[in-house]
Amino acid sequence: MKIVVLTGAGISAESGISTFRDNNGLWEQHRIEDVATPEAFQRNPKLVHTFYNARREQLDNQAIAPNAAHLALVELEKVLGDDFLLITQNVDDLHQRAGSKNLLAMHGSLRESLCSYCKHKGLVKSPLSTDTVCPACTKKGGMRPNIVWFNEMPYYLEEIYAALASCDIFISIGTSGNVYPAAGFVAIANEAKAHTIELNLEPSNQNSNFAEHHQGPATKLVPQWVEAFMRDRMQLKH
Ligand code: NAD
Repeated sequence: MKIVVLTGAGISAESGISTFRDNNGLWEQHRIEDVATPEAFQRNPKLVHTFYNARREQLDNQAIAPNAAHLALVELEKVLGDDFLLITQNVDDLHQRAGSKNLLAMHGSLRESLCSYCKHKGLVKSPLSTDTVCPACTKKGGMRPNIVWFNEMPYYLEEIYAALASCDIFISIGTSGNVYPAAGFVAIANEAKAHTIELNLEPSNQNSNFAEHHQGPATKLVPQWVEAFMRDRMQLKH
């Protein structure tokens, strides 16, 4: 039984990290066009750095921690091993901190930097600025967060499409279904005859493409679904 799970900002909402669709298309009071495109970075790198440094700083706040939904997915992975793949659009590190291993962060990570010149990726140890020097090519001014911005190509697409084409169950959690290509994953899973499930606070834009959907907070729905899955699996074994 192969399961592919896709998560979005909604799974981290109850950990205290804002989504943006719930805030009228604003992410922490900023328009996407101002902070999450390559053009925004060219136009105003200082603003973009300030925005992502603040998001990263928020992750270091003691109050921010993985919630029951992140942890339930770790339990599922423990049972399924390599038959489980978690794809996240999130750039926070809550899945990693929860202990997920088979994880593809398709939109990058707040914890990493990317040099625009030499493409070197590294861990961010102090806030990034236009003065940050690339440790690999030593050029200044090109360091950016390793975040896949709008109009950029997400990571791991080949692996993701291969996993979707061979999965038995595809579950989408806490994502509005607006951001492509992730919004199109359910269609690929349907083509592969997988059973498709949406767990979201409200019906997403892709809601009608799922065979099964449940509405409610991720901290309730995800542990519930995982528990039911484990129970059915145990019964099948006996
Ligand atoms: P989104 O903000 O567009 O949509 C969030 C979805 O989650 C909504 O449909 C909402 O109804 C649902 N939701 C809200 N609270 C929930 C809860 N408690 N339980 C279950 N569902 C809940 O998010 P998206 O679809 O992931 O797209 C946003 C893009 O912005 C992504 O590419 C992501 O990289 C980025 N982003 C990331 C973070 C993060 O890393 N935590 C936060 C904001 C934005």
